[in-house]
Amino acid sequence: MEIQIEGLCKNYVSEGKTVKALDHIDLTIPANQFFTLLGPSGCGKTTLLRCIVGLETPDEGEIRIGGEVVWSKAKGIAVPPEKRGLGMVFQTYAIWPHMTVFDNIAYPLQVRGERKDVIREKVLRTLKFVQLEGVEKRSATKLSGGQQQRVALARALVAEPKVILFDEPLSNLDAKLREETRKELRRFLSELDITAVYVTHDRVEALALSDAIAVMRAGRIVEIGSPQKIYFNADHRFVADFIGRANQITATVTAQENGLTVVQCGLGSIQCQSRDLALGVEVTLCIRPEFVRVTSHAANVGQNIVQGTVASLEFVGEVYEAEIQVGDEQLLARIDPDVQVKEGDKVSISLDPAHCLLLSA
Ligand code: ATP
Repeated sequence: MEIQIEGLCKNYVSEGKTVKALDHIDLTIPANQFFTLLGPSGCGKTTLLRCIVGLETPDEGEIRIGGEVVWSKAKGIAVPPEKRGLGMVFQTYAIWPHMTVFDNIAYPLQVRGERKDVIREKVLRTLKFVQLEGVEKRSATKLSGGQQQRVALARALVAEPKVILFDEPLSNLDAKLREETRKELRRFLSELDITAVYVTHDRVEALALSDAIAVMRAGRIVEIGSPQKIYFNADHRFVADFIGRANQITATVTAQENGLTVVQCGLGSIQCQSRDLALGVEVTLCIRPEFVRVTSHAANVGQNIVQGTVASLEFVGEVYEAEIQVGDEQLLARIDPDVQVKEGDKVSISLDPAHCLLLSA
């Protein structure tokens, strides 16, 4: 089901000050997509999710789910959460410790007054789906963190909602389990016709899981796009910076030629991915560390090749992270261990114009 949000506002008053948690949000979440709300702490992600579910009352605007108005200030409509047909998975697993796994999952169906045999069939089917067959009689607390989160997922899915909402569901799991559970979640949901709205401040999670990401800041949506678009080709400096580490260099547009935009900056004259920018405009040249290609031959010359010195080198696992001094600029680079360099070496850096992004904001 598609979710449409129009002009949604929510203010909180805290210690005499008004906080605009949601500031005129307009958003369409397409049906059957995995859609992530990403942004720094306090940007309004959870408030937006809670407004969709109905756990929070907005001040202004309208929310439609599958074309049906579930909240509207102007029309005086406020459908209660349990009538919105949504499933929800929280950060804390929110499973009931005194109940068995079976009873935890069965609960939403019992509340709906479904028949016992129907409940049993649906709970067992859902347990199988989340790969927890055979543990239905166990106390829910006698499961690992990852299994408890799967119980929470099963409970959200058992009533066959058309929309499922997640509020930082993996943040209580350790790093390895988080990665495994993330993959499972993606696999489980890809088998269902379901719209998933997922709140996180973890950019890797957002990139790995989502069909589309909306990046939020201070109660507003800054940019929406596919993970690839947001990572490689963001329109806003804030988004490029938030989604991953990036070298950001102040530059001035000097030419538009051969389908590329040329800038002058501390690295010299650099050809960049084409952007519709006027000559003389000040911009930010944004280059991700993995696209700063370092070679140990300092003598290379040519367009988009600059000379620098290795200021620092750190081994971080599969690559080295290096700071390369180029004039007054320092570029962060990720270097393949095969490239034999050490601190103090003179090196060449080549920059592919396709990965030199110009941002005006
Ligand atoms: P986090 O990632 O830290 O959970 P978030 O992006 O989900 O953050 P929200 O929880 O939606 O952010 O909060 C948005 C803003 O509204 C914040 O400034 C927060 O302090 C404020 N806020 C949220 N709930 C309340 C409340 N009940 N009373 C007062 N202010 C609130």
